[in-house]
Amino acid sequence: MAENTKYIFVTGGVLSSLGKGLASAAIGMLLESRGLTVTIQKLDPYINVDPGTMNPFQHGEVFVTDDGAETDLDLGHYERFTHAKLGKNNNFTTGKIYDQVITKERKGEYLGGTVQVIPHITDEIKKSIMLVSNNTDVVIVEIGGTIGDIESLPFLEAIRQFRTDVGSSNVIYIHLTLVPYIKTACEVKTKPTQHSVKELRSIGIQPDILLCRTESYLSQEIKNKISLFCNVDPDAVFTAKDVDCIYEVPLVYNKEGLGDKILKKLNIWARAPRLDDWREMVEKYKNPRFSVNIAIVGKYVDLTESYKSLNEALAHGGIFNDARVTLNYVDSSTLTEKNVMEKLSTSDGILVPGGFGSRGIEGKILAAKYARENKVPYFGICLGMHMAVIEVARNIAGMEEANGEEFDPHTPFPVIYLLKEWYDEQTKQVEKRNEGSDKGGTMRLGAYPCQLNPDTLAMKAYKTENISERHRHRFEFNNEYKDRLVEAGLIISGTSPDHELVEIVELADHPWYLGCQFHPEFKSKPSNPHPLFRDFVKASLKNAKKLEDAKK
Ligand code: GLN
Repeated sequence: MAENTKYIFVTGGVLSSLGKGLASAAIGMLLESRGLTVTIQKLDPYINVDPGTMNPFQHGEVFVTDDGAETDLDLGHYERFTHAKLGKNNNFTTGKIYDQVITKERKGEYLGGTVQVIPHITDEIKKSIMLVSNNTDVVIVEIGGTIGDIESLPFLEAIRQFRTDVGSSNVIYIHLTLVPYIKTACEVKTKPTQHSVKELRSIGIQPDILLCRTESYLSQEIKNKISLFCNVDPDAVFTAKDVDCIYEVPLVYNKEGLGDKILKKLNIWARAPRLDDWREMVEKYKNPRFSVNIAIVGKYVDLTESYKSLNEALAHGGIFNDARVTLNYVDSSTLTEKNVMEKLSTSDGILVPGGFGSRGIEGKILAAKYARENKVPYFGICLGMHMAVIEVARNIAGMEEANGEEFDPHTPFPVIYLLKEWYDEQTKQVEKRNEGSDKGGTMRLGAYPCQLNPDTLAMKAYKTENISERHRHRFEFNNEYKDRLVEAGLIISGTSPDHELVEIVELADHPWYLGCQFHPEFKSKPSNPHPLFRDFVKASLKNAKKLEDAKK
């Protein structure tokens, strides 16, 4: 722990999906705007050791950090709102905590003692919080789940103890609740908040600040009522008003005085917030001059949470280009030779995102072909790059039966194949895998260096030769077919520094066609859009109309 590290624990009540992750990220942003250093950690109550193997339908996107951790999508919010460098220690699940405790028990580290939830699990949780505390002014810890769930109890008990451990002046508890507006009664209701706080207090946690999610600003009268029933200062009850644009959240909090209150409660002295750039960015986001339609041809099209970072990165590209990016999700399994034109012709750019498994693959390959032939900007990410390579192999390089080994293990032309051995940047050792390898641990994960070639779209975007991007995949470009594909027109614009792994491919004679093996969306921020998203949106915009013209 740094000498004066302060801790903010964020819990949620009433129901899930209130936006605790965003609230935590926004609090982090507000504190940074005052010159403080922050980090944010998520403690998740489920038993999976990490979300890596969880179905995106259920859990949304898996966010990957530089150090190769597969984490909860809230870490994406944390990175987009703050400058905190996040890694594997910023996300712990119940499964991971128990795994560590059981491993210690097997090693005999508890010296034969009976291993129990209190104190062994709670101690392990507290140690995990300490792991991210180094050299940081404020550590924000978001507790997943909703107060009242059985699952989150050990975490809540641990954070309750934590205040006594580090001193009460160093810890505050912020509770996010819902204050619904009931139309028939024409009033907002405070009862769910009262019950949620009652539940929290019954386990020994008295919230210091309440953030009330609601449709419009709460009156002082309502705040007083909540204050009375929940034993929280009236000026510590804040409206967390619904907003159109998530990047507005810190501005709303700031307007309500949340930053000042947090500093006061934690006894921190800091400068006034500097929010002008952020405010300007939000203004640009809300009032663009142009509009652009992007088709996302993927599998999880019904659940946009699965493409969280992607959606945000596209929006960031839009902010830079003064454009509203309208996303048109196309379920690739519905695309056929016959309808591809009809389904994609209204889109100014086409993006095929990352994905796993063979469902809908042929539709994605068709989308890549459509984009190539019709000179529509194409951005293929990971699986989307695989699709582009297979398409070029089949339709230009004369390898009609080309495929990826993921979709057809017996293809005569495995242009995308399973790499059996590679140097792992994270563990700094050679990793090996085969078809039967453990699903959780065999991906190329996290940051890898990439070297760009001159006179390419990639170089034009990044404006530097050496970059680092995050990976999450098993299959790779097969160098055995490199010459044939290059001859057919594929440009290899980025590789690993030893040139063994192809990282970016492009096509000549096309306005903008690029596939990358990594996931650039994880590194885009609203105030610093990722260069590839910036340029993809820019290229797509050439097909689009000015908003004013579009309205005519
Ligand atoms: N399924 C592909 C692989 O494992 C692509 C993964 C991805 O798009 N993230 O290599």
